[in-house]
Amino acid sequence: MPDARVRTRFAPSPTGALHFGSVRTALFAWLTARHAGGDFILRIEDTDQERYIPGSEALILETLSWLGLNWDEGPEVGGPHDPYIQSLRIATYREHAEKLVDGGHAYWCTCTPARLAAMREAQRARSEPTRYDRRCLTRQADVTQEREGGMAAVVRLRMPDGVSDWDDVVRGRVSFANSDIDDQVLLKSDGFPTYHLAVVVDDHLMEISHVIRSDEWIPSTPKHLALYAAFGWDVPRFAHVPAVLGPDHQKLSKRRGARNVLEYGELGYLPSAIVNCIALLGWSSGDEQEVFALEELCQRFTLERVNPAAAIFDPKRLDDLNGIHIRRMSTDELVEALEFHLPGTSKETRRMLVPMLRERMVTLADATRLCAPLLGEVKLDLSIEFPPKKVDQATAVAMIDACIEAVEEGALEDHDAMLERLRAVAERSGVKSRDAFRVLYIAILGTPAGLPVIEAMEFLGKEKTLQRLREARARLG
Ligand code: GLU
Repeated sequence: MPDARVRTRFAPSPTGALHFGSVRTALFAWLTARHAGGDFILRIEDTDQERYIPGSEALILETLSWLGLNWDEGPEVGGPHDPYIQSLRIATYREHAEKLVDGGHAYWCTCTPARLAAMREAQRARSEPTRYDRRCLTRQADVTQEREGGMAAVVRLRMPDGVSDWDDVVRGRVSFANSDIDDQVLLKSDGFPTYHLAVVVDDHLMEISHVIRSDEWIPSTPKHLALYAAFGWDVPRFAHVPAVLGPDHQKLSKRRGARNVLEYGELGYLPSAIVNCIALLGWSSGDEQEVFALEELCQRFTLERVNPAAAIFDPKRLDDLNGIHIRRMSTDELVEALEFHLPGTSKETRRMLVPMLRERMVTLADATRLCAPLLGEVKLDLSIEFPPKKVDQATAVAMIDACIEAVEEGALEDHDAMLERLRAVAERSGVKSRDAFRVLYIAILGTPAGLPVIEAMEFLGKEKTLQRLREARARLG
């Protein structure tokens, strides 16, 4: 379909919050649509009632919105193929299942769970693959009677003979012998479709051009191709994107406790950095560039550049990108974004803090720790060596005294002059100024490192600064 409009979808099941792996699938589908000026559709696949976790649908919408991955059609926004929630489309699937039965592509099956279990057991005993033995296919007249008599029944796909193959956008040619594929249940006895029927019917009705999903679905694709053929429908392009592994090289999964992406927000990660990091899970730009804003990703992203090998999520890379994205933010944006992490501060206060913080944050949450000595009382950690290593008592006293003198003289406003004055004290004592300044950090901030100390003194004001310096001086005896 070279000229058809690009329409991609993200089709999560509401079985929990989104983690990096599932968001990666969503992002690749979103970017494919945005790159082509097409549409991105969100569809909730909630036909598996047993795996349903209440509240996860709302979490999914919130996560996508927070990351800036807006959808053109789907829950909340509606669209021409409404509803976009599969449990509200049950009649459609049933109708399509019946069409398949009428055309001879599917059949009713009344085998009981007990019979199926015994069948599988026997197959295992003979070291055969476990699969439905098509018993009901050859006794359809009886099956009709049994159904009329009230027996529970499912609809199974009659998997055709031959080979299923397709040109996967990410993986190239993929092919399966159909003889290896089971007659998949399409409609369950409770009238609900299985994923396989619902996904194909909806992808067709919703005019999806590219099915982008995790590569764990590759073994299902032959079943889906059989369904497209049975209905006589055009087949979309398939792009099976590689698994995302955690730092331990194990697959990220809800079951293994992969972290809810929204929690990263609470930890002070920016949506733009998360999106940047996730985009690099399997995709590369082809040049050296690794830092991308969302708009740039829309311009540059193509599925053809997705590597089929498994991608490894590296938290260190997320940290690096987060720091870079923080430094790209304007002061106004940071003043806004830090509200959550510096609760109780006014905009004006945050505006004064931002220049000190910008270069020193890996996450926005670092602001809480860094600013604590300026916003509350400094809690003196008496276990901190004071004077610090490599600084003798006399030098520490000289640094503090010189600083008290300068502040009393009102020299605090001129940072450069202050620095020079204090450096000269360190130099006269023969102590490296980096070491000598630790005396002031401990006096003002309670720790030997942190926010730039002269700026911190200015923020505190003359009175508080002098008070802290004098207290530290008293500790030196
Ligand atoms: N509901 C499926 C899932 O949660 C969607 C798979 C697909 O995209 O076809 O993974």
